[in-house]
Amino acid sequence: MPLHLIHGPPNSGRAGLVRQRVSASLRVEPALVVPTADDVYSFERELCEERAVLGASVMSFGGLFATVAAAGGSPLEAELLTPAQRLGAVVAAIGGARESLGPLRRSARRPGFAVALERLLDELQGAGLRPDDVEAAAATLESSAYLADVAALFAAYASVRDGLGRVDSHGVAFEAIRLLREAGAFWRERPVFLYGFDDLTRNQLSMIGALSAVTEVTVALSYERGNAALAARTALLESLRELGVASETETEPNPENTHSDLLFHLERSFGAAAPAGRPADGDLAILRSAGQRGEAEAIGAEVAKLIAAGTEPGEIAVVLRDPSRRGPLLASVLEAYGVPAALEARLPAARTAVGGGLVALLEALFGSRRAADLLRYLRGASGLSAGRLDGFERSLRRRRIEGAEAALGLWEETYDEPPPDLARIRAAAARPARLAGELAEVASALAGRETGLEQRAAAAIANALGERAELEGLAPAPEALAASLAEVEVWAWSGPAGDRVRIADPYRLRAARFDCVFLASLQEGEFPRRDGGGDPFLSEPQREWLGLPPRRETEAEERYLFHACLALPRRRLFLAYRDSDEDGAAEARSPLLGEVRRLLDPPPPGGGEPDPVEAGLIRGRDLAGVVHRVAEAPSETELARAVAARGGGVDEAPLLELAGAGAKAAARIDARLGAARRAEAASRAPGPLSNPAVLEALGAVPAYGGTTLEGFDLCSYRWFVSHELDPQPLDPAPDPLVQGGIMHAVLERLYAERPGGEVAPRPGSLGAWLTRGYELVAEAAAELGAHPAERAIVRRVEGLLGRFLADEARREGSGFEPWLLEAAFGEGEGADRPVLEIDGWGLHGAIDRVDRAADGRALVHDYKLSSRVTAGEKLEEEAKLQLQLYMIAVAKHWEAKAVGGLYHPLRASSVRRPRGAVSAEAADELAAYGLSRTDLIEPGELEGLLADARRRAGEIVARMRRGDIRRDPGPRPGLRNHGVCPPFCEFAPICRRDRAPVEPVEEEGEER
Ligand code: SF4
Repeated sequence: MPLHLIHGPPNSGRAGLVRQRVSASLRVEPALVVPTADDVYSFERELCEERAVLGASVMSFGGLFATVAAAGGSPLEAELLTPAQRLGAVVAAIGGARESLGPLRRSARRPGFAVALERLLDELQGAGLRPDDVEAAAATLESSAYLADVAALFAAYASVRDGLGRVDSHGVAFEAIRLLREAGAFWRERPVFLYGFDDLTRNQLSMIGALSAVTEVTVALSYERGNAALAARTALLESLRELGVASETETEPNPENTHSDLLFHLERSFGAAAPAGRPADGDLAILRSAGQRGEAEAIGAEVAKLIAAGTEPGEIAVVLRDPSRRGPLLASVLEAYGVPAALEARLPAARTAVGGGLVALLEALFGSRRAADLLRYLRGASGLSAGRLDGFERSLRRRRIEGAEAALGLWEETYDEPPPDLARIRAAAARPARLAGELAEVASALAGRETGLEQRAAAAIANALGERAELEGLAPAPEALAASLAEVEVWAWSGPAGDRVRIADPYRLRAARFDCVFLASLQEGEFPRRDGGGDPFLSEPQREWLGLPPRRETEAEERYLFHACLALPRRRLFLAYRDSDEDGAAEARSPLLGEVRRLLDPPPPGGGEPDPVEAGLIRGRDLAGVVHRVAEAPSETELARAVAARGGGVDEAPLLELAGAGAKAAARIDARLGAARRAEAASRAPGPLSNPAVLEALGAVPAYGGTTLEGFDLCSYRWFVSHELDPQPLDPAPDPLVQGGIMHAVLERLYAERPGGEVAPRPGSLGAWLTRGYELVAEAAAELGAHPAERAIVRRVEGLLGRFLADEARREGSGFEPWLLEAAFGEGEGADRPVLEIDGWGLHGAIDRVDRAADGRALVHDYKLSSRVTAGEKLEEEAKLQLQLYMIAVAKHWEAKAVGGLYHPLRASSVRRPRGAVSAEAADELAAYGLSRTDLIEPGELEGLLADARRRAGEIVARMRRGDIRRDPGPRPGLRNHGVCPPFCEFAPICRRDRAPVEPVEEEGEER
């Protein structure tokens, strides 16, 4: 039996030996079989270099099955289901069998079930099993109901496939093996070589057995007697030996294949029982970073340095245990540094702009039918202007529109035409082939002039939809289309990586070699993985009964992979890990790093002592290092950032040259820095405003409101943005504002109408006040919509009103009775009095309520829709002026001396007494209010309080008029809140003032 085995450790020359034997047999058209398409490219390239490609074929195992079947005269290749069609057949099978399933019925409805089942079927078929075999196992094993479901799904899939008159790749494999076994002469004794496989399915082993009956077959694998790191491959070697082996060649490790003695030592010693140590040198480095971006940037910087020093990008690889998860960030960092990279990972198409846009469109039309999905699609790449879409989003939010139909109605009402593409997609919904075509066109349009990933995503989506629509019954129903697209995957990079830095997992890279290799994300639980994955359907006993290999033993497999990674580099090895995440939370590094360290001399010290060897290998960057060191910046942009961060400026040219930027680049960066600094300085200095027209406009303001003055005192920049720039919120008015509006309106009308005939609610009339109050709330609510949020507002206002009126009823006998309601003064139409002139500036306002005693003294009330209001002693500290200014206005305009003013906290729950400043002379009369002693002040002090407010207001007006705008949160220096931004200020991203953590202070919900 001419089956030959070549085995040995990595870098022992197995690949060279295989190439040699392939070259030596060109005359008889040898076939070289390798695991992946990249291996195909790479071996073809190497054979080309040896001028040996003519006559030889390099292919994957799937290609070998197809080649043998075609050589044997099988027509099956033409009937082969594409991967998308096979998944469609699995989906159709699940749909047909679901209702008859037992334990798996609920799972079968979940997203991802079809993909997982397809993988299981692949394994079952690869092991040569048929539905009957699984059914037979279900009849004999525990958990048989579960296995019976698997058998039913398997049978349903086979039925759908056969009903379509198609075969899958396993059908082709069976056919190829059958043809070889029955009459293998058609293969004409072409020798077959297999290189780089970690595992072989039963079908693949059967193929090797059938081929070795008719020709020479040579299998080269990683295995070394006694090498614990390669123990995971023992089972494969034994399986091959069971086929009957003619010869075995053991290859020896060859130090000449590795240019670094240290790296050769690491590969040879890893996993050895008692490895000898060796001093570290510059061929090994450890990159310690904080956060994923930090790690990506640290790797990017080292890669850029290697390339700058002459290493070809194609001679660099970054190994990630999970490149789909960690690779996109790394690839984007390398791209930003100008490094060509190939991320060899499958990404969900829905994560691309094209896929995401299409999924959103399908969800809006046929799936969730949410307005948010329609908006997501329109924002994606529809070509509509951002301004138009912002306006549309604002209308949606303000009208609280959540359904896609209502959103479409609003769009058409606004723009007189439907958004692009929607009409034709809808029109095609009933015809799968046409719908697939329309969606392919939309995908292509969304990809536009983008290259690379977006174009590949558009093509993958178009192919998947088109191929499924080709076969009767496989096209997804419109409502399932979004979920189907979510299952489409796309290679982030396809084709030969050529002269690019490869980013891939260990399985894809293990058959290759590079000058420099980065093993990244060496974190506990990530590499080595905690669990090795594998199928989620079958238990170990079930697998054993079915003849499937046991799940890979995770620890042995991970050690095998790490060992394979150690064998990849010829010259330099970088081990990268993160010691914290972006927020500074500690992350544990991989124990494999410790194992590498133990291979170095001198051994690591015990007892937590600092390790000088490791310290010498580590290049660290902690969370505070947001930019690279100047001398290590990997690109002009990064260099400019690094110089800017250290406070450098326009005179940095010598420094930049020192950093290796070159004189011309240094000049460019210098100019960029200067412009950036000027722009930043301008953006950080909002005032003083100097535009004469602006100053003239500010100076011409006829009157100011109390809350406006308070807003300026709280922070002049905040006032400038909110009051003068007046940004419009996207969302409906905040609930507290709406509640406040209703409460004020209802209280004004109630006190004006006086239900039950009393001037204020009293115990006897409280019922009448409440009844009328709820009617007024209902009237106000009629102007709101019927959205649940608005209904909730109404319920809340009813509760607050009932509580306030009950409190008022208990205040009977104060001697003060409601007198003025919404007493307005200023220029407005409904104003009772004109603008109040104070020290050369004007005040306007509307006082919620003024009560009056029989002797003419007044008490000012201000309703606040908040749970906490300002005490008298904190009026200045909290920048409060309104109450004092209203007391002045009552005296001047209504000629009533105010004894004080009170804020009423309408949202307070347990302690609801009003706060403010009241003359102690009125303390007895107002006892029913339960005023705080600190809010009662001597008459002289009240006068002083008003005079002080008047002075402060005058100073604020003067600053406003001269445009003195600064980032100056909190009132004057010396007061507790000076320099502290209120936590509710939402303008921090605009003003860019760093905000230190502050004690939480509850936001006041209402400003009037
Ligand atoms: S974040 Fe602070 S400085 Fe900036 S606008 Fe708000 S209060 Fe003013």
